[in-house]
Amino acid sequence: MTCGNVSLGQIHIIHLTGVKAFLIECMGGTLLVDTGSSRNDAQRILRRISEVGKKPSEINICIITHAHARHIGGLPLLKEICKFRVMAHEDESEKLREKTGVTSDVKLKGGEILPLCGGIRILHIPGHTRGSVMLYIPTFRALIAGDSLIGERGQLKLPPAPSCYDFDLLKASIKRLEELDFDIVFVSHGDDVLRGAKNRVLQLIREMI
Ligand SMILES: [Zn+2]
Repeated sequence: MTCGNVSLGQIHIIHLTGVKAFLIECMGGTLLVDTGSSRNDAQRILRRISEVGKKPSEINICIITHAHARHIGGLPLLKEICKFRVMAHEDESEKLREKTGVTSDVKLKGGEILPLCGGIRILHIPGHTRGSVMLYIPTFRALIAGDSLIGERGQLKLPPAPSCYDFDLLKASIKRLEELDFDIVFVSHGDDVLRGAKNRVLQLIREMI
């Protein structure tokens, strides 16, 4: 991704066991989003970090979109090796600690802006879980959606209601995406939408009514 002649960074998609993680390489820092389901996934993430020419110690931050098993299983090993700061929403932090033994270094509330890649905004999107977050990266016109949206045959859908803490709350959260300018949505499960994602989200909002 470029702005003028200055590269502001890039997003690497890491395919794991039925789920994805994302490595966001920025000027000034690199962050990991989610950690897969197991130590095995952690090893795959470490291999990818090496393939993109980074050392584990260069991963400064790990953001957990939510504390479901397939997103946090690799966290203990990755934290030990990368020594990054772990960020999770305050409503997920306790579950995260119970399931992984890892304490969040930063308990997010939503609305924070990380000073990387021109500013990465944390969006609190409650519904799939109480403390699910998305990352909004205006520089890339991209959202990293976690499980709050899933990709299916080029469309964006809501995750199945039984998998959600509060399905109506999720719908209300997704409606707030109307206000944002984006073109790309990365999802943890299914196909990412790399073009025209805002229209897919607007279509989903119309279908929800
Ligand atoms: Zn989930």
